[in-house]
Amino acid sequence: MRRHGGYQETAASRIGQLMARAPFELAGTRIPPGSRAQIDVPVAKLYTHAPLHIPVEVVHGRQPGPTLLVCGAIHGDEINGVEIVRRMLRLASLSRLRGTLIAVPIVNVFGFVQQTRYLPDRRDLNRCFPGSEVGSLGSRVAALFREQIVDLATHIVDLHTGAIHRTNLPQVRAQLRDRPETQAMAEAFGVPVILNAELREGSLREYAQSRNVPVLTYEAGEALRFDEWAIAPGVRGVQRVMRLLGMLPADRRRHATASAEVANGSSWARSPIDGILRPRARLGARVARGDVLGRVADPFGNAEQEVLANADGIVIGMSNLPLANEGEALFHVARFDEIEEAENAVETFHSDFETGPGL
Ligand SMILES: [Zn+2]
Repeated sequence: MRRHGGYQETAASRIGQLMARAPFELAGTRIPPGSRAQIDVPVAKLYTHAPLHIPVEVVHGRQPGPTLLVCGAIHGDEINGVEIVRRMLRLASLSRLRGTLIAVPIVNVFGFVQQTRYLPDRRDLNRCFPGSEVGSLGSRVAALFREQIVDLATHIVDLHTGAIHRTNLPQVRAQLRDRPETQAMAEAFGVPVILNAELREGSLREYAQSRNVPVLTYEAGEALRFDEWAIAPGVRGVQRVMRLLGMLPADRRRHATASAEVANGSSWARSPIDGILRPRARLGARVARGDVLGRVADPFGNAEQEVLANADGIVIGMSNLPLANEGEALFHVARFDEIEEAENAVETFHSDFETGPGL
């Protein structure tokens, strides 16, 4: 269907609209409406004196709309998000973008080069916000990213994966209470699980929310991997959020509404002893309290003990490393009021993506 009035506009009024839309400015670069630009934002020098930049691409639509920041690798080894951003930027539909997309494939460029979550000062960048221009490296990088990039955004999607040797079922984390727009974005994203997660102090999410900027964290797959079953839903999820916000034209194909269930809590089942894990539960599995999720034994198979589910729920994260010390978090189980619905949401999701996470 044609947009109401879309073809009745006179050439003059359309030119008028174009004139009215201001260029977008990021780190001193001006991007005219209807154009895009790649900008290297200087971040700091290495000790070698070699300069380092945060790579940014801005797509500034002809028509006004929200300014969405999509960023990956704030933890330097979480690279699924880097690929999500690359695919986003190649979408043909961006030529009809309303508003502005700020795409940052790699925020923690130091950690990315070193293939580590952290910064060279061993700080976690996602615990350094809002940061300070006169602080240590982590604090300075946070302050620079915030001032030059984050503060321009009206909406944010922050892309993450599980930590090293840990994998996550595709899930959105957000604080939903009294935040209808955030909740609508989380539901639109279209992955089966939404974790109504508490804010971590110093995180980008905490900072954005303190400014009333709706923000989602997408968590999927494992650090230092490209997991197709985590990347494809991420690309689709960001597009769905952009359609919800009116940044992309509505999809003409009819899709069943993605079902997502909000978890009302989660907890980790931990290793009862030091030893070698043989996992039994799989990512996305429904489990009941007391179910055996895996077994841990010494290398001879002596002193074997079971890892038990401590709640009814869905396995939304697990360790991929079969070596565990006592107390190590092995299986992340989310609890739901409507467990059947959550199980159905996971099954529907897997049938949408052929290469599901081992299911
Ligand atoms: Zn992360």
